[in-house]
Amino acid sequence: MTWSRDAVIVGGGVIGAVCALATLRNGMSTLIIDDASGERPASYGNAGHIALEQLAPLASLAALRAAPGRLFAFGGPLDFRVRDVSAWGPWALRYLKACNPKATKAGTQALSTLLAAAGPALRALVQDLGAPDLLSEHGHLMVWESPRTAARGRATWGAAETGTVRIRDLSEGEAATLQTRIAPPLADGIAFDGGGQIADVSLLLQTLDELHRARGGARRAGRVADICEVEGRPHVTLDDGTTLTPAVVVIAGGVGSGALMRSAGHVAPVVAERGYHIEGPAGDWGDLPPVVFEDRAMIVTRFADRLRASSFVEFADARSPADPRKWARLRDHASALGLPLAHAETATWMGARPTLPDYLPAIGRSRRVGGLIYAFGHQHLGLTLSALTGELVADLAVGRTPTIDLSPFDIGRFEPV
Ligand SMILES: Cc1cc2nc3c(=O)[nH]c(=O)nc-3n(C[C@H](O)[C@H](O)[C@H](O)COP(=O)(O)OP(=O)(O)OC[C@H]3O[C@@H](n4cnc5c(N)ncnc54)[C@H](O)[C@@H]3O)c2cc1C
Repeated sequence: MTWSRDAVIVGGGVIGAVCALATLRNGMSTLIIDDASGERPASYGNAGHIALEQLAPLASLAALRAAPGRLFAFGGPLDFRVRDVSAWGPWALRYLKACNPKATKAGTQALSTLLAAAGPALRALVQDLGAPDLLSEHGHLMVWESPRTAARGRATWGAAETGTVRIRDLSEGEAATLQTRIAPPLADGIAFDGGGQIADVSLLLQTLDELHRARGGARRAGRVADICEVEGRPHVTLDDGTTLTPAVVVIAGGVGSGALMRSAGHVAPVVAERGYHIEGPAGDWGDLPPVVFEDRAMIVTRFADRLRASSFVEFADARSPADPRKWARLRDHASALGLPLAHAETATWMGARPTLPDYLPAIGRSRRVGGLIYAFGHQHLGLTLSALTGELVADLAVGRTPTIDLSPFDIGRFEPV
């Protein structure tokens, strides 16, 4: 089989899969190369939440001030794998720099623009997939178990900009239904209208793959080792020695994008922000939208007949072994809440969010290698921004001006001036 295609997309997570489909829709032949290392990436393991309200990047003085109280050692979700300091230390120095109020304000503006367009793009994507039910626009809920944390949470969200998402009190019905599912008494809660969830993330990935193949797209397993420019075109070399010189290459390799971008001569300080989940049968959870238990920094999402509890932000080398204490903590939370997960045989997962120091994604065209496009660094918002990213990348691939100003997402922002 010949692998000659107009566009090669490196990475078969949700960003790569959507970019491939959008590029194909715009008339280019496509090949996805994914290392299929057996580890299910972030695109599989996430919480499924369409988080259109998360306008403020986590590179901010507020996030920095809150960090000590959120450390894993004190019961919180934030952890740093000390042995991997070389993987996250230099990133952390850049992060501190990105926390200045002017940068945070500009970042909020940039993310707001993306998030305002993300919902319509997702709607269009699920229509194209012939699977509109994959997007459930039923918002999400947030609850607190103590009046003190409830007052603090309400104040924070009351002052936050939430874009197209509206916050309201829980209805009596919502509060009563929730309380029947949860053992401890809930102190308070709010509802977010306007976002939602992907009804089943595994099914989304499968449907994307099937449609890409059905329309003539190809996919092969392999690890891309290097990307450089040869005679004005991107030149891709795989670990097994295979070389390809398509018109367009899209780097969409999640955390793996850093090394690929460096091979192409870019500075791309992407870090692995690792998260964990446990998952089991949904039991009598019902059809509740995603519920954030803010005191426990945990989100519970139903996917088809499964229930998933996700949490943690662990800075580490993406390849380091998982920390089983995190699954134990999730099980403890599930048990305290009386979730069906506490009783069932739960599956465990760990994987890495790809995150840049300013918590903005990198989407754009390389200035170093002709025909090279990049789309990675989607941090906690990769699923939410996936469909829009696909549209923007397809614009770049066919030489159209994207509908959104991509200058805030240019990877050149990390290069020394
Ligand atoms: C616990 C958790 C919860 C989350 N919850 C949400 C949520 O509710 N909502 C939301 O919007 N986002 C959420 N996210 C974030 C979201 O999952 C990610 O931003 C998104 O999945 C990133 O997708 P990606 O395709 O860029 O990367 P990945 O999913 O990591 O996929 C990258 C792929 O590229 C491949 N690859 C890498 N390098 C190479 C190479 N050199 N050659 C070939 N292949 C390569 C990898 O093997 C992988 O298959 C969550 C993340 C985590 C961890």
